[in-house]
Amino acid sequence: MSWRDTTCGALRAADAGRRVTLAGWADTRRDHGGLVFVDLRDYSGLTQLVINPERAPEAAEIAHDIRNEFVLQAEGEVVLRAPDAVNPNLPTGEIELQVDTLRIVSRSEPLPFQVGEENVDENLRLRYRWLDLRGPRMQRNLRLRHTAIAGIRRAMDGLGFVDVWTPSMTKGTPEGARDFLVPVRLQPGRFFALAQSPQLFKQLTQIGGFYRYYQIATCWRDEDLRADRQFEFRQLDVEMSFAQREDVLDVLETAVVASFEALGREPPARPFPRLSWHEADARYGSDKPDLRFGLEIQDATEVTRGSEFGVFGGAEAVRFLVAPRAFSRAELARLEEVAKEWGAKGLAYLVTDESGEVRSPIAKFLSEAELAAFRSEPGTTVLFAAADGPTVSRVLGGLRTHLGRELELADPEQQAFLWILDFPLFERDPDTGRWTFVHHPFTGVHEGQEHLIEADPGACLSQAYDLVWNGWELGSGSIRIHDQEVQRAVFRSMGIGEEEARAKFGFLLDALQMGAPPHGGFALGIDRFVALLAGEPDIRQVIAFPKVASGSDPLTGAPTPMPETTLRDLGIRTIVPEDQA
Ligand code: ASP
Repeated sequence: MSWRDTTCGALRAADAGRRVTLAGWADTRRDHGGLVFVDLRDYSGLTQLVINPERAPEAAEIAHDIRNEFVLQAEGEVVLRAPDAVNPNLPTGEIELQVDTLRIVSRSEPLPFQVGEENVDENLRLRYRWLDLRGPRMQRNLRLRHTAIAGIRRAMDGLGFVDVWTPSMTKGTPEGARDFLVPVRLQPGRFFALAQSPQLFKQLTQIGGFYRYYQIATCWRDEDLRADRQFEFRQLDVEMSFAQREDVLDVLETAVVASFEALGREPPARPFPRLSWHEADARYGSDKPDLRFGLEIQDATEVTRGSEFGVFGGAEAVRFLVAPRAFSRAELARLEEVAKEWGAKGLAYLVTDESGEVRSPIAKFLSEAELAAFRSEPGTTVLFAAADGPTVSRVLGGLRTHLGRELELADPEQQAFLWILDFPLFERDPDTGRWTFVHHPFTGVHEGQEHLIEADPGACLSQAYDLVWNGWELGSGSIRIHDQEVQRAVFRSMGIGEEEARAKFGFLLDALQMGAPPHGGFALGIDRFVALLAGEPDIRQVIAFPKVASGSDPLTGAPTPMPETTLRDLGIRTIVPEDQA
């Protein structure tokens, strides 16, 4: 006997008269004295079962026992519902199953929450994730995830990319995060690092002649968990040989469009818009601006040079935003707090109220020319930042994002994809003051700037690019260094000596000496991408078994202490402070 011959979401009016067997979960049970109604659910939908004691006395007996989430098998006849019982909100709402035989296949304890219940504490949802997965939100999200990835795989396959598996257990690669370590029983005291990305291996596939590599790769990074971060996550990892930047961008746009199409959605128009990093920083104060709204930063450094208002007069950069609202004092005080979080000392402003009158504690210090430059429409507020360039960008970028959200400036119907190009190659490490990479140390420099790598690192632009969607960074990539001399120069300018470079990346330097083709690639964060496709606020909602902010898995209770004997075999002694044990 088979468990079922159709699914719970499949039956329609045309099926009336058929005898069918269904299996699924009891979504609800309503006992109407004699008649018992059960909504039977599986992944495809619900069918209403009617158990009538006159028609099926044995089934009716069994039906009294049914509780939510029992697994049932029901056999009977599909019948049309009476006209006043038709449920137009349900695809199966025109029919019901008059049950003849009913079987309880599996029972359920009373539930910690109801399947599909909203606003359940997330720890509880994750502790009983199997119940949570049964509900409509996770069913939808994981299926959407599957469909989007399937679309991407088909596109990559069509473009001739080969899926190559690269090791999870490897040597630390510098993607800028801490490594998770794996001890090795056969070599006590030695550790593998879990791959922060397949970066070096994918480069080696190109030196190995694979021409076009891709993988939906799992990556591990020991970072604080946030809305868009998990210890382990997946990325569409791509690498291609003899490729220019345009070739890589083209492949990624194809993959993004393919996932929209797989979901039956209108894909974003191609080519995606582009901005240089410098322009994005100047106009939006961000390397991942949300372009669904304007609110661009304007420059006032020239106008305010020598200003009587000391904060402006002495600043390296003075820039402003014109917010489309005449803010109250209380609102401005809150905005000042936001500005301070981003590094501002205070927040200077000019409010132009609805009648055109200007309210501002600084107006009396400003010259006619300055006031003319800042004149704006009634019902607006000019918000200033004056400091060094990077701080001004950060503050106004932070305010812009905040205002975009608070004033709901973004058009929710719009999909703003954007490439950010021409990042700087190096930045100063705030802790050590040394030059460090902006993306990773294998990123190529702009053609013709090779001589600047050591002479003037701060002036080098990289061949890196980021993909941004509605203000979220989806991923990044670059054309790589394929010349070992250039690679050494990059290491040197970051203070990585020959010995250290050999110890860490000797295999890459060797490979670069044995016929390395020009190559480049990209990695797109699948979890973020799918969370945005699903309209979810964080990536935990699109991952089957995620961890929570403390770094634990509420379902299994991991991570857990290990027995002394196990640790001894691995050559490990723990030195956890008692209050953390
Ligand atoms: N390996 C980089 C990352 O995981 C992406 C890349 O450059 O391809 O972020």
